[in-house]
Amino acid sequence: MKIAIFYKKEKEDKELINSIKQEAEKHQIIIDNENPDVVISVGGDGTFLRAVHQYIDYLDKVVFIGVNNGSLGFFYDFFKEEVPELLSSLAKKELVVKEYPLLQGDVIFKNSQKRIYAVNEIRVECPFHTLISDVFINDEKLEVYRGNGLIVSTTLGSSAYNKSLGGALIDPDLFALELTEVAGIQNNVYRSLDSSLVIDGHKQITFTGSFKDSIVVYDYLNIPQDDELKEIKLHYSEKKVKIIYRQDHSYVQRIRKSFVL
Ligand code: NAP
Ligand code: MN
Repeated sequence: MKIAIFYKKEKEDKELINSIKQEAEKHQIIIDNENPDVVISVGGDGTFLRAVHQYIDYLDKVVFIGVNNGSLGFFYDFFKEEVPELLSSLAKKELVVKEYPLLQGDVIFKNSQKRIYAVNEIRVECPFHTLISDVFINDEKLEVYRGNGLIVSTTLGSSAYNKSLGGALIDPDLFALELTEVAGIQNNVYRSLDSSLVIDGHKQITFTGSFKDSIVVYDYLNIPQDDELKEIKLHYSEKKVKIIYRQDHSYVQRIRKSFVL
């Protein structure tokens, strides 16, 4: 078995990384950052997102594990003192793997087209003036939206930006997409749904309209805007990210420890 150890250079935790390397050696697990079977992401949720994007072309071959030293996040639940046990379970292939589809965005510009993938969400935002977009669910028009932006979140991403915008948390065992507004204008002239909308994960959400000065963001990445944005089609992709959680992983405990206690 070959593992990659992924971390943010500026947040390198040498002690934790060394303990992973030492334990790997004990179990004849090879460190191979180029061609791994398992990617161990060391750090927070943001680090985990970066690890997935780093290996985005190899998602069918790679399994991800998040390890952190300290706080708790949504993409990891292994801590430093559990590294020996984790590596030994990994060597024995005893761990539980969960699969989640990525969100796919087909972003259509006047003269070009780009396909993007996200773990958390894809969004279009304009900080300068009102963004105006028609919103379609499959082929049906839902509304004309006016405001600062629109985001489509995966279940995994529902606890990230989506939650800060007042969107609901969605249990990742459900197959669903969530559409959430960023400061939608609601008055006697203009009106949109306002609340978040959770829909079946097989459906497609399309934004089409006038997106002058708007920016398309996917997870922590964005598309440089040098062409006129026309349309964004969003639906779950065939690409899936495989994540190893602990055997006693509980979504309720994760919410409780992250947001309630
Ligand atoms: P960041 O600005 O450090 O992320 C903001 C916070 O979101 C961090 O505390 C991060 O955790 C946490 N986070 C990321 N994914 C999460 C998830 N699926 N569930 C719960 N919390 C999550 O930027 P980043 O680390 O590169 O992460 C990018 C993500 O940040 C975007 O996908 C977006 O969802 C989120 N974001 C949130 C806001 C907001 O809430 N107002 C604004 C912009 C972006 P860590 O500290 O462990 O990295
Ligand atoms: Mn972060």
